[in-house]
Amino acid sequence: MSDPLLTVDGIDTHYGESHILSDLSLSINEGEIVALVGRNGAGKTTTLRSVMGLTPPTSGVVEMAGEPIDGLDPHQIRERGVSWIPEERRVFGSLTVEENLRLAAHSGEGSQSERFTEVYDQFPRLDERRDQQAGTMSGGEQQMLAIARALLGPETDLLLLDEPSEGLAPQIVDDVADIIRELNEQGVTVLLVEQNAEMALELADRAYVIETGEIVHESPAAELLEDRDLMESYLGVR
Ligand code: ATP
Repeated sequence: MSDPLLTVDGIDTHYGESHILSDLSLSINEGEIVALVGRNGAGKTTTLRSVMGLTPPTSGVVEMAGEPIDGLDPHQIRERGVSWIPEERRVFGSLTVEENLRLAAHSGEGSQSERFTEVYDQFPRLDERRDQQAGTMSGGEQQMLAIARALLGPETDLLLLDEPSEGLAPQIVDDVADIIRELNEQGVTVLLVEQNAEMALELADRAYVIETGEIVHESPAAELLEDRDLMESYLGVR
């Protein structure tokens, strides 16, 4: 078994007085897709924010490739190879696809034109829409742009994805799942947070279930998906 790429060990995270995550631990091996699923308000987004340094844990340890990253700021954590795509996707709606990508590439290494070629090769649909205003694209296309933006800049070893299927039609959800699978095949390790547990579990190798800030289940994703009793009790999926 390879050493974990990401280790989260016993973290507690608060928003002001509210204690949200309690002694939460999880680990992700290089090359895996890991799903973190759970009901509304369980603490999924807070877990990603804790890893990314946006809401730093008050105790516990977060390590990337064996090096502690808790206590670093989000920019430094990005430099360590962790990219985060928030639920709201954060593309600049009034800018074109190309302008969105240029802004994201600003902090990157190497020549921009090379990086652009790579991204356009990877996402031909964005290539076709270089001059389209991002705000006029479909939800799936915007998600694609958000992913492409995250991949520009420093190299991404671990992608934190917050609800990439949110608000998308089922056909588009399949397209987004294909993109995630392809990225993973290209060597990007993925931590996927989803309300859409079935989509996440079909895609993932392993799964964690979170309830009120605590991990209550860990197993291969397929095992959880097939256990209808667990799916119902943890996730309300019949
Ligand atoms: P959802 O699936 O609905 O996005 P989630 O599992 O991602 O939920 P979080 O967004 O991590 O859950 O929220 C966990 C808890 O923390 C919730 O009770 C939420 O109300 C609370 N919370 C989130 N953000 C803040 C904040 N900025 N200030 C105070 N409480 C917050």
